[in-house]
Amino acid sequence: MAQLLRAACRPEDTVARLGGDEFGILLENVDGAQDATASAQTILAAFEEPLRVAGRDVPANASIGIAFGRYGDTAGQVLRDADAAKHAAKRDGKGKFRLFEANMHAEVVAQLKLKADLAAAIARQELRLLYQPIVNLEDGTLRGFEALVRWQHSLKGWQNPATFIPFAEESGLINDIGRWVLWEAARRCRDWVGVLSPAPGEFKVTVNLSARQLDDADIVTEVERVINEMGFDPSFLVLEITETAMMNAAPDRLDELRSLGVPLAIDDFGTGYSSLASLHKLSIDVLKIDQVFVKGIEEDDASPFVGTMVGLGQALGLQTIVEGIETKEQLERLRQLGCEIGQGYYFAKPLTESQAAQLVQRQASGKVVFDLIAMADGYRDRRLRSVP
Ligand code: C2E
Ligand code: CA
Ligand code: CA
Repeated sequence: MAQLLRAACRPEDTVARLGGDEFGILLENVDGAQDATASAQTILAAFEEPLRVAGRDVPANASIGIAFGRYGDTAGQVLRDADAAKHAAKRDGKGKFRLFEANMHAEVVAQLKLKADLAAAIARQELRLLYQPIVNLEDGTLRGFEALVRWQHSLKGWQNPATFIPFAEESGLINDIGRWVLWEAARRCRDWVGVLSPAPGEFKVTVNLSARQLDDADIVTEVERVINEMGFDPSFLVLEITETAMMNAAPDRLDELRSLGVPLAIDDFGTGYSSLASLHKLSIDVLKIDQVFVKGIEEDDASPFVGTMVGLGQALGLQTIVEGIETKEQLERLRQLGCEIGQGYYFAKPLTESQAAQLVQRQASGKVVFDLIAMADGYRDRRLRSVP
């Protein structure tokens, strides 16, 4: 990293490591913002190629904050401003830079507050899991649930994962949240498996794992503890991992998890950058086709992708689940394309635990859970469509 930064800077600039993965660069004799942003652009361009470390390509990226020292500023003040700008750049996305603005300190304070709130959320029992039904598209039977986390903030009310999961990942809090999610979902899975006594593969509760959780070797022992404690067949608990997180996971981590008997699902399939060759090598059991491929599927030109992905799943012996089914037309088209299992607002939004338990009871007593014929005629169970 030092070599890369030195090469991207001018000879008169000073490059220093501030600690951890933080570096500071002192630019001297700059003429204004333009010179400084040009330097930032040069540095970011250097990250476009992966780093070569011990014979391996390691993708890396940087976020840059730029602050100008004024007469009388201490080094500490300038660094603090640059740090606030860097946090703003980081929130903008990978590989971005920002110039310091006075309101940025307020944002940093707000972030620290959010972090403290989120860290306390578990102890305060503010996290909840919702469960979105996974449905057999042929006959409307229940095939399981995806567990989706929500945060009931004391002041702000229900928070969707999009507002706090990225932050939880960045700050490392995702490990605590993820552990809570895993245990909570596993307990519900145990209850429902007890009610349904399903055959392996017929029912599953799926749990999302983030990249950061996979980085931590302890995840394997944690999942093992859950499985031992719950005592159900591990095939009922499925771990969903995005394509990108799978590609970046430590080589043995996925195999270790899978060797516990827990199936792995590749989430948001088709939106990451896995090549078909690497897909073949990954140890996975379930393919979840991302909702972007369902949008517009009623029009024929969108369906080659879904059809091909379903065929791919079949060829690799994977179960395929389509996400984001919202309309009757989409469902019909997907069935024509050979999709057997799916989830989406057409059937139900993510439900509370007690609503989910009711569906399980309905299935256990032999009733149809989703009456596809009545639904095609316009029948809607309102209770399944308006949840926090
Ligand atoms: P995801 O894993 O792709 O989850 C599916 C998202 O699509 C959910 O949003 C779900 O409510 C939404 N969805 C389901 N059916 C439909 C539909 O028919 N139409 C549309 N437009 N959307 C639909 P949600 O619950 O807001 O979750 C967003 C993301 O947050 C998830 O995406 C997942 O990446 C992440 N997430 C949720 N819970 C957890 C968790 O416990 N741990 C981790 N690490 N990530 C989580
Ligand atoms: Ca998911
Ligand atoms: Ca998904």
